[in-house]
Amino acid sequence: MPEPLLVVSGVTAGYGRREAVRDVSIEVAAGQVVGLIGPNGSGKTTLLRVASRALKPWSGGVRVAGRDLYGLRPREAARLVAVVPQELSAAFPFTVRETVLLGRAPYLSSWGSGSEEDWAHARRAMEMADIAHLADRPLDELSGGERQRSVIAQALAQDAPVVLMDEPTTHLDLRHIVEALQLVAGMARDQAKAVLVVFHDLNLAAAVCDRVHALAGGRVVAAGPPEQVLTRRFLAEVYGIEAEVYPHAVTGRPTVVLQVPGIGPGR
Ligand code: ADP
Ligand code: MG
Repeated sequence: MPEPLLVVSGVTAGYGRREAVRDVSIEVAAGQVVGLIGPNGSGKTTLLRVASRALKPWSGGVRVAGRDLYGLRPREAARLVAVVPQELSAAFPFTVRETVLLGRAPYLSSWGSGSEEDWAHARRAMEMADIAHLADRPLDELSGGERQRSVIAQALAQDAPVVLMDEPTTHLDLRHIVEALQLVAGMARDQAKAVLVVFHDLNLAAAVCDRVHALAGGRVVAAGPPEQVLTRRFLAEVYGIEAEVYPHAVTGRPTVVLQVPGIGPGR
């Protein structure tokens, strides 16, 4: 059997001398969506940075499509791994179309206009992310959700086999959350990509992921299909909350319902 498209093995990493993740291993095969969950500060973004070649691990490694990610040239790496970061720098002086076309940078021969094919990829990506009507607007004048969709479109245009996303639905309204998750699922199912997504919202993770890995204090504390990981006991131990978990009435996937201590039935 060929090795999975993305293999993170035994990664320990941090900032300065401070360790942020310890001995984390995650594999994502073609066609899979894997979720990274865990409380604030548990190391999710750090792990995504390691897997996107932005933060070199202290030990352990990352393999993408059978190759050592940190042994590749930046351009080769960018053809293999697309990243949707948590926050886009606020002062990003480009229009939506230019932002999306930047996703084609690893394929452009020189820093220029892009080929017909590059433009076609960018156009298709903008349509998929529902931002074609915003193509000429400067990114810094958009709403958080419109900006988020532009960055998702950039990753779509990049067309890499491995896609990493850091809380891609944070700024989106409900309809755009559903559409973004359809895009995420489609990248895996229709395009056979390996997709690793950091989720803040456990219900969204449960709705779309084949497997989830939970981090706490920089370590993987649980991993498996959502229905195995997302239990009342897990929520109590890892998040320190009392919550109910029900199977979704239509999909059967786990659904976390919060309660606020001290507040009972309403009127
Ligand atoms: P998460 O994404 O799960 O909220 P992070 O990976 O951002 O967590 O952070 C993990 C730990 O690393 C936290 O303790 C955080 O304070 C620390 N950390 C994150 N980024 C930096 C940084 N740039 N410099 C120093 N420490 C950082
Ligand atoms: Mg984070």
